[in-house]
Amino acid sequence: MERTDVVVLGAGIVGVSVALHLAKRNLAVTLVDRQGPGEGTSYGNAGIIESATIFPPPFPRDIPTLARVATWQAPEANYHLAFLPRIAPWLLAYRSWSTPERMMKTAKMMRPLFSRAVAEHEALIVEAGAERLLRRTGWLKLYRLEETFTATMFERRAAEDFGVTFRLLDVDGARALEPALAPIFRRAIFWDQVASVSDPLALTRAYVERFVALGGRVLKGDALTLRRGPQTCRVETAEGRVEAGHAVAALGPWTNDLLANFRLRLPLAVKRGYHRHFATRGNATLRRPILDADNGYVLAPMDQGIRLTTGVEFADRDAPPTPVQVGRVLPAARRLFPLAAGIEPQPWMGARPCLPDSRPVIGQAPGHPWLWIATGHAHWGLTLGPVTGRLIADMMTGTKPFCDPAPYRAERFSRYGM
Ligand SMILES: Cc1cc2nc3c(=O)[nH]c(=O)nc-3n(C[C@H](O)[C@H](O)[C@H](O)COP(=O)(O)OP(=O)(O)OC[C@H]3O[C@@H](n4cnc5c(N)ncnc54)[C@H](O)[C@@H]3O)c2cc1C
Repeated sequence: MERTDVVVLGAGIVGVSVALHLAKRNLAVTLVDRQGPGEGTSYGNAGIIESATIFPPPFPRDIPTLARVATWQAPEANYHLAFLPRIAPWLLAYRSWSTPERMMKTAKMMRPLFSRAVAEHEALIVEAGAERLLRRTGWLKLYRLEETFTATMFERRAAEDFGVTFRLLDVDGARALEPALAPIFRRAIFWDQVASVSDPLALTRAYVERFVALGGRVLKGDALTLRRGPQTCRVETAEGRVEAGHAVAALGPWTNDLLANFRLRLPLAVKRGYHRHFATRGNATLRRPILDADNGYVLAPMDQGIRLTTGVEFADRDAPPTPVQVGRVLPAARRLFPLAAGIEPQPWMGARPCLPDSRPVIGQAPGHPWLWIATGHAHWGLTLGPVTGRLIADMMTGTKPFCDPAPYRAERFSRYGM
């Protein structure tokens, strides 16, 4: 039997970042996953370190948008009809967080995390020797319709108040950055502080290598075997039982499976999303991720090709994939950028772990001071992994946290079962 200070359950970008930060504080840490590190949700994201995020994507409040979503006409959203009764209470809670006042409240509570996101990644990337993967080329958002651009006014004003910089570009300005884009949009916003990576899986693996170099252990095992004894907790792995003083639940969309064993429950839903890689025609290149705002998809240059990622799908986490959105947005993407053939036969699917207030849970489990939770990073798990790792490490080692951790406490969901 192995003894360790902390066992981190889940080796996605969040769990790996937590494990690495704990190892940097000289704690003995074991990282446990049932598959290889970074092969869950963290495998397939758009690779954007979204430091400029101001507001979470809102629940549609206007009737035309709602009607488009309800009738499966909206490229950015899909849902399974049979799943609607189960997700409806969560959607109502999510909707309640989509008023302008509450969006602003969320923006203020999330700013301490987003504002450090790029710097925290940069520090780990340098330590891990993974500089090759990082791009400091910003994020370009394109608007085909004037009204879609006008609707960003609230976000732009808030960005200015928060000191988040951006540049408004016309078609020529945007094409000066990305010459391969067809001039079929009217406006662009260039978020220059945003960074991105060319292979999220390789990044997670690089952080794991750094963790191992610091003495960390990576083992295969089932997190659901976690049990609490009188003094310690223990988990079964392929290499035997591991006993630890603390456990961290960083299981992304699967976190509630573990919490249920301790009579805890977060109002965690998933927003499923898909990606597929494409070759390019001629010698077309893309230097940074592009959002086609009116069509709800992102094109991101990756080592594997141009990765097209979709918006959200509300469906059971474990239901078979229904990648209709890839087909829905592909004609628009092909008109914007010279995509050639798809590289894989089938799109990849992931499930963003989401809480209705769009804030993650980072902190101790109520009533279980030995159990820590790091989950619910929604659209920003890659972005917020390292900053989450630092916050957990600060709290666990009794260091003054770099920001007030109260907005991320699990207790805010006490009426749901926390
Ligand atoms: C299409 C798409 C695009 C996205 N784009 C971006 C982006 O550009 N930028 C950004 O910041 N975020 C993005 N995201 C969101 C981001 O990918 C997620 O928030 C993030 O990957 C969540 O990380 P995680 O570590 O919490 O979960 P995961 O990566 O899912 O890790 C959880 C781990 O737990 C393990 N696990 C589960 N159950 C068990 C068990 N019983 N025993 C052992 N192990 C278990 C899994 O194997 C997995 O490795 C995107 C997501 C999608 C789907």
